[in-house]
Amino acid sequence: MRKPIAAANWKMNGDLELLNAFATDCRQRSTVQTIWGLPAVLLHPAKKAGFNDIAGEDVSPHEKGAYTGEISASMLKEAGCTYCIIGHSERRSMHGEDETVLQEKWKQLKAQNIIPVYCIGESEAEYDAGETTKSIERQLLPMLDAGLVDENTVIAYEPVWAIGTGKAATPEYAQEVHQQIRQIIAEKCGKISNSVRVLYGGSVKPDNAAELIEKADIDGFLVGGASLQVDAFEKIIEAIA
Ligand code: PEP
Repeated sequence: MRKPIAAANWKMNGDLELLNAFATDCRQRSTVQTIWGLPAVLLHPAKKAGFNDIAGEDVSPHEKGAYTGEISASMLKEAGCTYCIIGHSERRSMHGEDETVLQEKWKQLKAQNIIPVYCIGESEAEYDAGETTKSIERQLLPMLDAGLVDENTVIAYEPVWAIGTGKAATPEYAQEVHQQIRQIIAEKCGKISNSVRVLYGGSVKPDNAAELIEKADIDGFLVGGASLQVDAFEKIIEAIA
């Protein structure tokens, strides 16, 4: 049985005031795991405020050294992170991150026992060209071939055309891709595929969460915009619970 996840991705938003509002008003449910992807400077305050699973939004591919501005996996660990988002489409498109560098990031996390939330998803052009499977395979297979995926791994399927656009994938389409992702993992890693949690991300809101979570291979959500509003995120958690 895979415990569903409601994961927040605050990106470069939020502050201590918002963190405190969530700490006070957001009710934890035993049936849903909540993971808080937060700007690095909010991680330690979040831990102190009682947030259980906190996540970096990125990590350096290097262990330590002269990499001004970067944050290492051991620093995330010290701040209290149990998870870290890697491969978000914004990192891929704005910072040129590819599978080679993402493998290095993943290895750094693994060395610190931090679980990656690995984001994959096709661009709008790939979607239009019917190349979703090709895109998913390009992003996922190198991680499987490198032996990085294990039963704790979290995959976030986020079609790029759905992120921040208000145009979520239909539950049917999302389910089809999630099933494919699980199948690809099964072909390489066997039974592990039954434990890996595959989240959907892309314009998840209180009004579409319930129909998406009904699908067999959707194990929760990675939520951007709606995770910045206590009410909206609460409702999404409630839909999963
Ligand atoms: C995201 O950036 O990971 C995301 C899913 O954003 P939104 O929910 O705003 O589409």
